[in-house]
Amino acid sequence: MKCPLCGKEVKDLKQPCRPFCSERCKLIDLGNWISGEYRVPLPETNEKDGENATEDPGEE
Ligand SMILES: [Zn+2]
Repeated sequence: MKCPLCGKEVKDLKQPCRPFCSERCKLIDLGNWISGEYRVPLPETNEKDGENATEDPGEE
């Protein structure tokens, strides 16, 4: 079995990080996945339209 992230052979099949070779690769992959999710830009529909500006900038 090879680590899907770095391609290194995973010899210890009992390790909890499977199928990754190490906790590090597991976290990196998870990070990639998460950043990929967040990379999708959300359409901002709540921009100020000019009207309905009921919000007071207000000084505190
Ligand atoms: Zn790896």
